[in-house]
Amino acid sequence: MNPVSHLLTSWVVANTADLTPRDRALVTLAGVVPDIDGLGIIAEILTEQTAFPLLWYSKYHHVLCHNLGFGLLLAVTAILFSIRRWMTAFLVLVVFHLHLLGDLVGSRGPDGYQWPIPYWTPFSDGWKLMWTGQWELNAWPNVLITALLLAATIYIARRKGCSPLEMVSKRADSAFVSILRRQY
Ligand SMILES: [Zn+2]
Repeated sequence: MNPVSHLLTSWVVANTADLTPRDRALVTLAGVVPDIDGLGIIAEILTEQTAFPLLWYSKYHHVLCHNLGFGLLLAVTAILFSIRRWMTAFLVLVVFHLHLLGDLVGSRGPDGYQWPIPYWTPFSDGWKLMWTGQWELNAWPNVLITALLLAATIYIARRKGCSPLEMVSKRADSAFVSILRRQY
């Protein structure tokens, strides 16, 4: 799944409990941050034509941060930095696993590559998660899921008065919420 769908999924999950803005941000970010292992794409593109190409994207994307070890690291971080520690850590684990699930069902690349997920790393590298029915990253189920998540995000904003924008700017967030509330 793409980062926007991951972000909206985690935001909606973060709002299932009564959390402070900081805890909500921790949960929301935890659902997106596994994809930082895809940043190697920059090095890979830059070195593609050189004598020593760095295959960091091909090697590490969906590997380095898409495993149980990284999920537990996120949960520990949540315990250290959140206010409602256990609830936040629990929801962090939920969104982390939803991230893996989203990637498992809908992240097939244009070349058909399936990105098997080494879930048990670093405890064991026995078997990897893969689903043969996996659809493409830009296939209709992803579009539908993203549309539903967007609807849920608008619903939460109107009811509760907060949106993912609160992580960037409180002012932008209140402006956005008041625009949404002015409708109807
Ligand atoms: Zn991912």
